[in-house]
Amino acid sequence: MEISQFTDIDCLKEKVLGIRQSYIEDMVNRLCSFESKMLDKKFHVYWASSENNLTDMILNLLPEPFYNRFCFDVPQIPAAFLKTNAIKNIPIIDIENGNQNANFLLTKADFAVVETGTVVLLDKKSKGCFNKIPNIFIILDINKLVNKMSDLETILYVKSYYQSERFLPTDVRLIENPYRQVRTNKLQLDDKEYELTDTNISIFLYDNGISKIMENNVLRNCLYCIDCGMCAKVCPVFAYSKEYTPIELVKSNCCSNTGNKVREKTLLCGNCDQVCPVQIPFSTLLIKEIENNLHVNSSAASGVAKTFSKRKKLNKMNGSFRRFFFLKKLFGKNKMIYNYFKEQKGTFFNLTWLQNNKKNE
Ligand code: SF4
Repeated sequence: MEISQFTDIDCLKEKVLGIRQSYIEDMVNRLCSFESKMLDKKFHVYWASSENNLTDMILNLLPEPFYNRFCFDVPQIPAAFLKTNAIKNIPIIDIENGNQNANFLLTKADFAVVETGTVVLLDKKSKGCFNKIPNIFIILDINKLVNKMSDLETILYVKSYYQSERFLPTDVRLIENPYRQVRTNKLQLDDKEYELTDTNISIFLYDNGISKIMENNVLRNCLYCIDCGMCAKVCPVFAYSKEYTPIELVKSNCCSNTGNKVREKTLLCGNCDQVCPVQIPFSTLLIKEIENNLHVNSSAASGVAKTFSKRKKLNKMNGSFRRFFFLKKLFGKNKMIYNYFKEQKGTFFNLTWLQNNKKNE
């Protein structure tokens, strides 16, 4: 289907939601077909359950003398790598400029296509280094696959619409082959200009709590995420703390260890509910998370969760003692966030969300 047929972003959003649902509901089968497709193409495929498991596997694959030839292009370098003193992180820019050589690049895929066995990288800083590094390790979250190439196209259009408000495809790199292509003779213009070398591209199918989320019928919604980044953009707490984006916070108890401190990391303003193209019900999920933890937390936690359910009243309490007390309990330990919200005179909570959820208020 041609994207140009669509004039309405809402229609595209519905389509994206359907695409994500159809993959997530049949995830196990789809992953197995993707793995066999990759093995047929002679990719190396590994399954990693957690961050520690992932780093152990990678370090076991590498000969130790090469630890000082590593290059990372991931949002966050896994802590275990940083603890391994021998690992030297060579800056991407130095490799691009030919000032240093790296033997290994660790990067993260944005999507993959089951039907064609294609790995998709978007806007990667390291794209200019791929032909200069002989071993590429690619992490692929197991919820980031789509069934067909046309599904990917639809998702990319919605993603770019949300990032730039225009239907422009993002900078896309499709990896179809496990070997890198190397220019052998600049003067040759025919097909033989390139040859395949024995370079390894290894794919790590990364669970990282996703199968645990799958077991929870309510939380499962958050696996539809297409990483458009809108929820992070509108989150007032993330703007100040830079700690957890709304989607990271929702997944945090399953994917990492927030220590059940969800209530200290959200104001439940509802902004993220309004913008998410795949309709992830953030406020509902976060309130559930807070309620689930009440039995293990102190009575203060219970007080805060109850206060959340009285958001409408709190909106009217500008400058009042009660509002001050609420902030103190929630963000008292984080002076920066606490002071920021103390100075805000407007409403805390998104009224559209409140209207849609009247019966719960
Ligand atoms: S969860 Fe956030 S990043 Fe993911 S699709 Fe929704 S708004 Fe975009």
